[in-house]
Formats: sequence, structure tokens, C-alpha cells
Amino acid sequence: MAKKKIKITKFGKLLLVGLILLIVLTIVGIKLIKTYKYHQTYEYKFIEAGYTLDDYNLVKDKLNDDELMYIIALEYNKNIPKIISEKYFMYKNLGRYISYLEKNKDKSITDVIALVNVNRDKPYYENLVTTDESKNEAMLVNKYHALSKKYEASDIVKVSSTYAYAGMSLNKEAYDAFRKLSDDARKEGFTIIILSSYRTYEYQEKIWNDRKNLKGEKEADAYAARPGSSEHETGYAIDVADYNHPLNFSEQESFKWMKDNSYKYGYILRYPEGKEDITGYDYESWHYRYVGVDLATKVYNEGITYDEYYEFYLNN
Ligand SMILES: [Zn+2]
Repeated sequence: MAKKKIKITKFGKLLLVGLILLIVLTIVGIKLIKTYKYHQTYEYKFIEAGYTLDDYNLVKDKLNDDELMYIIALEYNKNIPKIISEKYFMYKNLGRYISYLEKNKDKSITDVIALVNVNRDKPYYENLVTTDESKNEAMLVNKYHALSKKYEASDIVKVSSTYAYAGMSLNKEAYDAFRKLSDDARKEGFTIIILSSYRTYEYQEKIWNDRKNLKGEKEADAYAARPGSSEHETGYAIDVADYNHPLNFSEQESFKWMKDNSYKYGYILRYPEGKEDITGYDYESWHYRYVGVDLATKVYNEGITYDEYYEFYLNN
């Protein structure tokens, strides 16, 4: 009986060793498969390219697979994850962000994103495209997006002398909205009137050409928009003044009211203080652009310029 018992134990031992071997091989195998599978992931490839797991977590939801592969194939750049994680990051501009940041190391990544998005890495007027005029009150007109010479502003109506100095005209929808704005402002004690409104291409051309002939191109550009690039040519832009305090509009209570309320009537402050680099214009407390109540409210709440808003939300 004892002999037989030993035999079984020997067999049992063999069986046990075999079993253990099988388990070990299975575990190793599973591990190898897992490792192999992980090596196929974008996370692994991204980290292999020099980035950290935190970097990966910053970018993974903002890019699709092809875009991720493209980034992995690029030379490592510590700024790339920060750039991608920015709110207004646009993939199509990635290369331009990198090179603009390289040339402007003093600027923050947030500023670089904003500036490149509105084309400020390119000189004014040299890369002019014809703006999408079919967008009507939402169209962008600036030093990169111009109206075509044959553009004809629609529904231009004369502005009553109750609301403006003589000889003004404006798009009808923008005018109706301004009358409501001005009437409500009067109830608050402010008389806001229009100083300048619709201008034709020819008129803008004359302003700019006269200045150019007098002082040269650079001076003319600092003084006025080139023809096709002034919002006044759209029929949707106005310059306003406080009738009772005609000077220094930015210092008037009426300006504060305009700044906080104009969006409710569809108008936005187009060239805000501190955003000169983005808009390409000096701070103009008097210049407002009609974009409609919906859009104006969105732009106001977003707290960015119309140039930035348009590029990111309407042209992305
Ligand atoms: Zn203006």
C-alpha cells in the first residue's frame, strides 16, 4: 500500500509541476499579449514620442486618431500638449502656432492661439480673402477678410435726424435695432446718436487714397481701413456719440451703458481695449457692429473679439 502511495505522489508531483508551468505560461502569455496590445495604443506611442501620461490626458479628447498619429510622428515639442489643450485650439493651425510661438517666445500660449486664429502671424492685407458675403450681418470684415468690389450692401435706409447727424444711412435691420437701443438709452438718460454709418467702397477708397497720397501707405493704413476692409461698407456698422457729452466717449456713463447693453439689441463693441493686436485696430469705444441679438449675446458672453469668435465658431 505504501509503495503505491509514493507512486501516486510522484505522478501527482509531475501533474502539479505541469499545472504550475501551464499557469505560469498562461500568465506570461496574457502579459505578453497585454503588453503587445498596449504597444499598439496611441497612449503608448504618445509616451514613446517623449510625452508624459498627463500630456496624453490633456490632448486625447481633442484629437481624432489620425491627428494623434500625426502629432506622434512630429518631432517632440513640450509646448504641443499645452497648445492642444487650449480652449480655442484649431488643429488646422497647429503648425502655425508652433512656428509663431518659436518666433514670439515672450507671448503666452493663450495669446499665440488667439493671434494665429485671427491670422496675425501674417501681415495685414497681404493674404486678403473675399469674405463670405452670404453670411450677411454675421460676415467678418477685417484686414484679412474683405468685401469684394462688387459687393452691394442690402436694405440701406436713411437714418432719421432723431438718431443721427444728417446724411446717415444703414441696413434696415441694424437701424431698427439701433432705434430700440437708442430709445431705451434715452429712458436711462443717455442720448446716443450715430456719427458715422454706411460708407460705399468708393468713399472708403477715397479716404484711404487721399491719406496715402498725402502721407504714404503706412500712415494711410494707421488712419483708415483699405477699401473693402471697413465694416462701414457692410451697412452693419456704426460710430456713435453721446449727444450731451460729445467728447471722450470712453469716459462717459453712456459708454458704460453701451458696453453692457448693446448686445441685447444685436450690437457688439468691435474694437475693445486691450485687444488691439487681435482686431488690428486701436481701441474704439464708439464703433459698434450689428450681428443680430443671438450672435451678439454669444460673443458678449464668450468675452472675445468678433474676429476670434468668427474664426473659431463660424469658420472652423
Ligand atoms: Zn467706425
